[in-house]
Amino acid sequence: MQHFASDNYAGICPEALDALIAANVGHAPAYGDDEWTHRVSDRLRELFAADCDVYFAFNGTAANSLALASLCQSYHSVVCHELAHVDTDECGGPEFFSNGSKLLPAQGENGKLTPDALREVIARRSDIHYPKPRVATLTQATEVGTVYRPDEIAAIAELAHAHGLRVHMDGARFANAVASLGASPADITWRAGVDVLCFGGTKMGLPVGEAVVFFDRALSEDFAWRCKQAGQLASKMRFLSAPWLGLLADGAWLRHAAHANAMARRLADGLAAISGAHLLFPVEANGVFAELPPAVLDGLRARGWRFYTFIGAGGARFMCAWDTQPESVDALLADLRALAA
Ligand SMILES: *Cc1c(COP(=O)(O)O)cnc(C)c1O
Repeated sequence: MQHFASDNYAGICPEALDALIAANVGHAPAYGDDEWTHRVSDRLRELFAADCDVYFAFNGTAANSLALASLCQSYHSVVCHELAHVDTDECGGPEFFSNGSKLLPAQGENGKLTPDALREVIARRSDIHYPKPRVATLTQATEVGTVYRPDEIAAIAELAHAHGLRVHMDGARFANAVASLGASPADITWRAGVDVLCFGGTKMGLPVGEAVVFFDRALSEDFAWRCKQAGQLASKMRFLSAPWLGLLADGAWLRHAAHANAMARRLADGLAAISGAHLLFPVEANGVFAELPPAVLDGLRARGWRFYTFIGAGGARFMCAWDTQPESVDALLADLRALAA
């Protein structure tokens, strides 16, 4: 049975697994000085058409926390959306690794920060008693399955830079956003003003690992030491980096992401036709958020389905992954229909 609780319930995609196995040959230099890590870093520079600095971390919490810490002093603050993973799901990691930089949550429709919301937080206080805003962070795709358009990112980044803030992007589902927008990776990152991207690998189909991509190389000074101190420097780095080669080769990452998005679309279309169900957010990536009667949610659980209900009362989240089968979506929909009847 496939589940919809999270895209990280899925296994390793075949391209990543093949690349992982192919890297398991003989001895190779440790700590990132191996040919696979060099090749993936070059491949990412090609993908982004930029001379960026690339690092690998074991998970998204570490990638975000360390990237944010590298942009802040302890007396700084980070403006994020109130639903941002960095604020709600990282157990204080960004604050901990930055030695106290405070997260300042702001509101915005459909899980998106807006220039107005950012402006309000920046203008709120400028006195010495308040943590100085230094970073704006965006999640792409957002925690509620929507995506920022290139012009939305550019508007936020322009405002941020005008006030001396850096722009960080939590791209745990960056692939889904790129597939959804049909934009180039460069257009929704550095060309729109993003300084640092945490490019999610795990949810995209890797066994483990995320890439931290610094478009402004001056910001990555000493980042290697920060990773090491935080316990995020893989000694057999080739096994963290090589799977990326498989995914990035011939667009596999985008095909998988587009597939996951299409499965979410299929689920959303089916849900919309069920009485008593309604979608809570536009479905633009690989997640579907729906309000469902409590009896239906209980019934789904009783039938063995796993999903999260962290968005408000009656809200359920269904995530699709690279391997979600149309039959699984249809089976979930059939149970939903039966329970709603
Ligand atoms: C999954 C996710 C992360 C990374 O979480 P880890 O469990 O630490 O790998 C970061 N941001 C968002 C929005 C996520 O969904």
